[in-house]
Amino acid sequence: MPSEFDLIARYFTRPAKTVRLGVGDDAALIRPTPGMELAVTADMLVAGRHFLADADPERLGHKTLAVNLSDIAAMGAMPRWALLSLALPEADDAWLGAFTRGFFAEADRFAVELVGGDTTRGPLNLSVTLLGEVEAGQALRRDGAQPGDDIWVSGELGGAALGLRYLRGEVALTDETAAFCLARLQAPTARVALGRALRGLAHAAIDISDGLLADLGHILARSAVGARFRAAAVPVAAGLDGASGVVRDCVLAGGDDYELCFTAPPARREEVLAAGRRAGVAVVRIGIITAGPGLEVLDEDDVPLSLTRVGYDHFAS
Ligand code: ADP
Ligand code: MG
Repeated sequence: MPSEFDLIARYFTRPAKTVRLGVGDDAALIRPTPGMELAVTADMLVAGRHFLADADPERLGHKTLAVNLSDIAAMGAMPRWALLSLALPEADDAWLGAFTRGFFAEADRFAVELVGGDTTRGPLNLSVTLLGEVEAGQALRRDGAQPGDDIWVSGELGGAALGLRYLRGEVALTDETAAFCLARLQAPTARVALGRALRGLAHAAIDISDGLLADLGHILARSAVGARFRAAAVPVAAGLDGASGVVRDCVLAGGDDYELCFTAPPARREEVLAAGRRAGVAVVRIGIITAGPGLEVLDEDDVPLSLTRVGYDHFAS
């Protein structure tokens, strides 16, 4: 087995571009841009828990970074610098080559520089710490939602969760739908441009990693408000039958879509739609923030759904 240092030199060292000192010393040296605040986040992917051990390594490299990009996006920040900490069961060249290909393709796409990390032997575990920058005072937080705000969702929900059920053999899908759902699950796209465009517009924002109900629930808890929306208003991934119970479950309570859920005052609807157009992603208004407390999801006849039936308790536990 090559040494940890061979692996770092071969796979993780690239010339420092945006930092004074990158990979290779005891710590990286970063000069933050004056007037900006640092947004710092970490997300870990564990084999068997967040992905199957035989998952495609290139997609895994992509996703390891993308889930962190999504957190930075939800703050309205620009992703800048990443640290990558890996536990690897073995030094598998083919695996590492594919993993870093996926990771660096996504890093280059968002102009993120890998500036450090840690490499050790152990059960497969992939962890990224990502630093972003946001204009001081302008970050999108979870605690700013106000009664009367519209609730918005970007993109389409449910595809990733359906892809996971497909992998587990729980649902049958056409080849085309399966490919689409697996791409949503394994190679998500962080909504960085949308997060940036919502600065000064959205009152609160979160990325949907654990499912709409759970993640909107975090906004409600942090903002001390309630919400009401129609299940049918939530955008369903193309090709999926929104009327099916399984799909509705995936749309409302499934995770891993990495879209943004945010609130904004009704007076700014046109600007929100324009922000979506500029960012190249559809944004859909699904309901309103109420004085609360509580979350009410209405069916086609405006009758409140039992949220335990769509899996809310499962994700809250
Ligand atoms: P130390 O013993 O001081 O912790 P390491 O030997 O762990 O140093 O790491 C050496 C250098 O390589 C450090 O700059 C560290 O940030 C970097 N590094 C280690 N693993 C990775 C990785 N997976 N990706 C990027 N940089 C890494
Ligand atoms: Mg170390």
